[in-house]
Amino acid sequence: MLINRETTLSLRCPACGLLIADYIHAFSFSGNKNPEIYCSCGQKKASIRREGNEKYFLVCLCAVCEEEHVLSFSAGEFWDDKPRPIKCPESGIQLGKLGPQKDLVGKLEAIAEQLQGDDFFINPDLVLRLLDRLQGLVQEGKLGCLCGSREVHVDLFPDRIKLICQNCAGEVVLPACRDCDLERLNRRNSVFIPGYVPKEKREKNP
Ligand SMILES: [Zn+2]
Ligand SMILES: [Zn+2]
Ligand SMILES: [Zn+2]
Repeated sequence: MLINRETTLSLRCPACGLLIADYIHAFSFSGNKNPEIYCSCGQKKASIRREGNEKYFLVCLCAVCEEEHVLSFSAGEFWDDKPRPIKCPESGIQLGKLGPQKDLVGKLEAIAEQLQGDDFFINPDLVLRLLDRLQGLVQEGKLGCLCGSREVHVDLFPDRIKLICQNCAGEVVLPACRDCDLERLNRRNSVFIPGYVPKEKREKNP
């Protein structure tokens, strides 16, 4: 489903040299927007243009030759699971990479950054606070799946957050439109996906 396509773009900043990953979700393009990517120092690093559903153009300000490069990707390449290097076409020097972020905390941070002022969500402030809370739980080791896996994928919808176990595909949905949704999450001290628990384990720990 288009809405759940996501990736991250890590590009070196031509002004300060920092390499930061920015989260890009299909919602970044909603309403025919061309997402623009800025460094935390304020320098614009890149913008992404989508043509139809099949072509993506990354316009980036190169940290090596300080010129603008336009790199094109098919939709399959752009949203690919495997990271691909972003290289300066003049010098061949790698400027960064494009590919989904596997680490959950890093991903939540990148999502939260991207979310500021986004109109994809019914209640963006609430979504930010929910993500913040989830991040805390991940750091405390209190977010995962009952199958034993800690590899959790996050899917965002306008009114809810879905956590999916990458191991057993178990999932849990957290509503994200009213303040009570955050209160409910704050009262929980862990979030575990009710995933697949092997039979022998179930019998030992009922
Ligand atoms: Zn910078
Ligand atoms: Zn270049
Ligand atoms: Zn699982």
